[in-house]
Amino acid sequence: MAQLELNGVVQRYGKHTVVAGVDFQLEAGSIACLLGPSGCGKTTLLRCIAGFEDIADGEIRLHGAVVSRAGLSTPPEKRRIGMVFQDYALFPHLTVEQNVAFGLGRKPAEDAHLRVRQLLATVGLHGQGGKYPHELSGGQQQRVALARALAPRPELILLDEPFSNLDVGLRERLSVEVRDILKREGSTAIMVTHDQHEAFAMADEIGIMYEGRIQQWDVPYNLYHRPANRFVADFIGQGVLLPGVVAGGTNVEMELGRLISDIPVECSETCANCDDGCDVDVLLRPDDVVHDDRSALQAEVLHKAFRGADILYTLRLASGAEVLSLVPSHHNHAIGEKIGIRLDADHVIAFKKQ
Ligand code: ADP
Ligand code: MG
Repeated sequence: MAQLELNGVVQRYGKHTVVAGVDFQLEAGSIACLLGPSGCGKTTLLRCIAGFEDIADGEIRLHGAVVSRAGLSTPPEKRRIGMVFQDYALFPHLTVEQNVAFGLGRKPAEDAHLRVRQLLATVGLHGQGGKYPHELSGGQQQRVALARALAPRPELILLDEPFSNLDVGLRERLSVEVRDILKREGSTAIMVTHDQHEAFAMADEIGIMYEGRIQQWDVPYNLYHRPANRFVADFIGQGVLLPGVVAGGTNVEMELGRLISDIPVECSETCANCDDGCDVDVLLRPDDVVHDDRSALQAEVLHKAFRGADILYTLRLASGAEVLSLVPSHHNHAIGEKIGIRLDADHVIAFKKQ
């Protein structure tokens, strides 16, 4: 049985539909991320799951039991859900230990003390229990907030942009740490973010949200290499769409001639029945295009962005079309230089022309 299950969840503020029919399931012990642009409904969906918002249609189940449907809502405190917010929301007048113990409610003092000490060690704050929040860095405060949410061993932990007040380096480190902590505790969690690197570092599975709907619920690899629609293709990673025509079922003919013939074409859901002659746009990621001095296909270097380990080249093909190419940075080419390229992809994704 899934730990969390959403079926056709709809939420409205007045006439404004914010969550427009969301379905997904989360197994116990899984970490999911909701990823999407600002305003797409991520926080509202989390608030529905936590019980702070009523839903207009559909249902939410926690461990099989319905906790939300139209006209019915189990109150937040009865859902056994822990929450971590962007602004930590610690009690300033309580010590670290007291903040974490607050999450435990009325446990016998002995048990509570043990659990608090164990949690502080888990989140890397061993021996800091006597400090007050203002004596800690932002990253440490967020760890206290996480320990407090984990304390009562909730059925589900919800984290809403928990790292967005922290600087980039710390954010990346903490997202990996928090993942380890959640895994060690065996927690089931959903984290909201608008940062795909954070989502990739944290999540077992990711739901891409846009305009109140989940556009694709999938593992990170598939979101990048097999996006379900143009929105996901564009929102995740970099790349270009090049026009092509389906030829021979599994091949696509492009202005680039034989560049990607022999490569099976997977038409996305927007193009379920791809026939010969069907006009498509083919998604090429920067890592799909590699340099090859022996290749007859030449491209001109238009632009280059040095990124340390690699360089992101913008290349112009003979047809005038542009592609991106990511190569190790010791392959250093000048702007205007002509270089040989070929595709290095075991599949391509195509979208039917709109
Ligand atoms: P996200 O977390 O993805 O940035 P939100 O869930 O906060 O998005 O907001 C989604 C939409 O719902 C926005 O258009 C926002 O203006 C609207 N909204 C959020 N909270 C309220 C509210 N309390 N009353 C009315 N509209 C709201
Ligand atoms: Mg939000």
